[in-house]
Amino acid sequence: MSSVKDKTENNDIEFLREVTEILSTETYPNNILHKLTRVFSEYLPVSKVNIYIWDNNITGLRNFESSWSQTQKKTVHHSLNNIYSDFALVKDNIFFFNEDMVSLKSLEDYFIKTEMLDETEGRAFLYFPLAFSDEKFGLIEYKLKESKKSQYATEVFIRLLQIVSRMISGTLLSLTLREQMEISLNFYAAMKDIAKIIESQYELSYIIPIIGEMIDRFISAHLIYIFIIDKNNKNRFELIWPKACNDKEVYNRLKEMIDNPDKEFILSDDRRIGVFPLKGDEGLMGAIAAFSNIDELSERDVDYLVQLSQQSSTTIQRANVYAEVLKYATLDALTGLNNRRQFEIRLSQEIATTKRKNTPLCAMMIDVDYFKKVNDTYGHNVGDFVLKTVAQLITNEIREYDIPCRYGGEEFFVILPQTTLEEASLVAQRLRKTIENYKINFEDNDTKQVKTLKVTISIGVSKYENDISAEDFSNNADKALYEAKRNGRNRVIVYKSEE
Ligand code: GH3
Ligand code: MG
Ligand code: MG
Repeated sequence: MSSVKDKTENNDIEFLREVTEILSTETYPNNILHKLTRVFSEYLPVSKVNIYIWDNNITGLRNFESSWSQTQKKTVHHSLNNIYSDFALVKDNIFFFNEDMVSLKSLEDYFIKTEMLDETEGRAFLYFPLAFSDEKFGLIEYKLKESKKSQYATEVFIRLLQIVSRMISGTLLSLTLREQMEISLNFYAAMKDIAKIIESQYELSYIIPIIGEMIDRFISAHLIYIFIIDKNNKNRFELIWPKACNDKEVYNRLKEMIDNPDKEFILSDDRRIGVFPLKGDEGLMGAIAAFSNIDELSERDVDYLVQLSQQSSTTIQRANVYAEVLKYATLDALTGLNNRRQFEIRLSQEIATTKRKNTPLCAMMIDVDYFKKVNDTYGHNVGDFVLKTVAQLITNEIREYDIPCRYGGEEFFVILPQTTLEEASLVAQRLRKTIENYKINFEDNDTKQVKTLKVTISIGVSKYENDISAEDFSNNADKALYEAKRNGRNRVIVYKSEE
């Protein structure tokens, strides 16, 4: 056996070598910490290494190990935030022993202090900053082994921790952090977008494709599917997005999920398929599935998908509640116009009046041109804003006793009582021009700058005649609208009956 001193020196070098090895090869937080802890506890009186990173999004520290999943939860003890603040404020080389600040310049004082170490029961931690030049971006926590207190009090040990902490800082900053911050920004954006859909929308057929596209964009290497459980047969999953899923294995995993309702997710053995439950107040509502022929789902993908599924569950759950409430509403939540149900009621009332009083009745069916492009270019929030604006412009252009309705997604229907076909087509032309010329100002999601866009609409006009049904009346307007689209859009076509 070599002398104790030799062994110590060799050990330190061996220790640094192993740490370097970890820092230069590992990129996944869990692995880095797991391996660091193993090496530290092998060579030093340290039983656990933890890393906390300052996160401006939550103005607090985030546990590096739990990746992104813990960010929202307050797992980090409040005093850690205080220690971090002190690191950020004090320029000196300092570290913390539990809650006590110690200057590296006056280590001797610290050694005196450590005589009191034996009194610290159960917990003893050393904290060093994560720093890039003077900029602090987190802290490292070393949990000390209870049984080896005398070993803390050596200058070599403290210096070694300082050096290693700097090494860890460098790696985290240059390698992992930058990359992950980028991903996490996108991730937060996706989470926020999913949460936001619900501010104005509540139909699942509208919401789910948006959620699907957002997750699909984020988890780009895998196909994403969204299923909802059939209300009448709780063992049946109905694919909502996209249109088809030809992979049998996905369905097998879904079955597995029904049998294991408490699992956070289910992965296939080869990690190429993952299913993530959508859960509401009344249990399983559906599932998000990720599938690839080639790529495995990384631990990080799984973390993200768990989070995204939870956020989607909340959004879908709330949409269901809204839908329930809005069954009894008369106005459309987004535009404030009459909703589809109210449209039916008002239309049959107006037809009855027309028949009784023999007054003219006309209608306009309006559809925004190339609206899908607006969503695709500027995002759904801007799309929603455009719909609100168009609805407002429609309301401005018509008379007080005209009845504007939101007929469907980007389709509007206006009932024009006591209006002749000539008058109706004048109103339609005026409205078409107004919208063509109107500059819609909106705030760009990314740059926060005010931008401008324009849209056009196509309109079909029809007149009520010959005791036709309400359905035929609106269909006639729709046929004219179809002609307007076919003839190049941004135009008004008046329906002419084929005699
Ligand atoms: P066209 O000129 O033929 O009408 O083209 P278009 O792109 O407007 O027609 P299409 O019917 O293919 O697309 C309508 C789009 O409107 C698709 C749908 O995602 C979007 N949409 C429907 N309802 C809403 C909504 O409430 N908000 C937003 N932002 N988009 C909606
Ligand atoms: Mg349309
Ligand atoms: Mg359209």
